[in-house]
Amino acid sequence: MARARRRFGQHFLVDPGVIDAIVDAIAPAREDVLVEIGPGRGAITEPLVRRCGRFHGIELDRDLAAALARRYADTPHVTIHEADALRFDFATLGGNLRVVGNLPYNVSTPLLFHLLDARAAIADMHVMLQNEVVERMAASPGVKAYGRLGIMLGCFFDIEPLFTVPPEAFEPAPEVVSAVVRLRPLPDSAMQPRDAGALSALLARAFSQRRKTLRNALRDVAADADFAAVNIDPRLRPENIAIEDWIALSDRLATATDNASRTR
Ligand code: SAH
Repeated sequence: MARARRRFGQHFLVDPGVIDAIVDAIAPAREDVLVEIGPGRGAITEPLVRRCGRFHGIELDRDLAAALARRYADTPHVTIHEADALRFDFATLGGNLRVVGNLPYNVSTPLLFHLLDARAAIADMHVMLQNEVVERMAASPGVKAYGRLGIMLGCFFDIEPLFTVPPEAFEPAPEVVSAVVRLRPLPDSAMQPRDAGALSALLARAFSQRRKTLRNALRDVAADADFAAVNIDPRLRPENIAIEDWIALSDRLATATDNASRTR
C-alpha cells in the first residue's frame, strides 16, 4: 500500500472500536446524503456507504481517489470526487448534506471556515480534528481557547464534542490527541450576525491583540459610543465578550458604517 503522504495530513484510522464509535455517532440512515472529506483508504467509508442512500467522497490524493473510484465503480450510489475540499462547492451536491471526515489537520481551520460558508447546504457535520482545535471550537468566554474560530462557528452551529481519540488509533500515529465533534446548525431564529464577513474581520482584529482592552484593540473601528450602544464595557478584553455581544457590536458597527456612507 502507498506510503502516507505527510503533506496531505494523512493519518489513517486503524482502530476498529474508534471506527465503530464514529459511525454510530453519525448513525447514517437510508435517506441520508453523506459527504466524506478525505476518505483516504476508506476506513469509515465502507460502513457509511453500506448504511446511507447517497455517498460523495472528496479526496485530494490522486492515487487514493483512483483506488476508491475503482472500488466503488459498480456501486451506483457512490461518487468519488478527486478534488480539494477547500475549493469544493458543496452546494453543487444538493442540500441537507451530512458532512463527515477525519479531516487533514494541516488545513482544518480554513476547512471549517469553508464549511461555515457552505452551511445553507449542510444538515450536520461529524468531524475528527486535533483535540486542541475541538477545545477552541467549543470554548466558553473567559478561557484561553476562546476566540475567532469558536465564536464564528458558535454563531451558526451547536458544537458538541463527542469523544477523544488517542494517537495509536491511527497509522501513522499523529503527535497529538484527536477528538470527534458534532456540529448542528442552530435554528434560523437564533441571533446571527447580519454580516458574517464583517464579524470575522472584527474578531481577527480584536484577538490579534487579545491582551489589550477592547477600547485599545478596536480603537480604529469602534468608539466609546458604539460600545455604550450595545452595552459592552470597553475595558474588558476580547476573550471576555460573549458571542451575542460580539454579534451586537458587529451589527452596530455595520449600521454605523451604512449611515456614514449614506451621509457622505
Ligand atoms: N478518512 C481516512 C483518512 C484520513 S487522513 C481515515 O480516517 O483513515 C486525511 C485524508 O484527507 C487523506 O486521505 C488525505 O489525502 C485527504 N486530504 C488532505 N487534504 C485534503 C483536501 N484539501 N481535500 C480533500 N482531501 C484531503
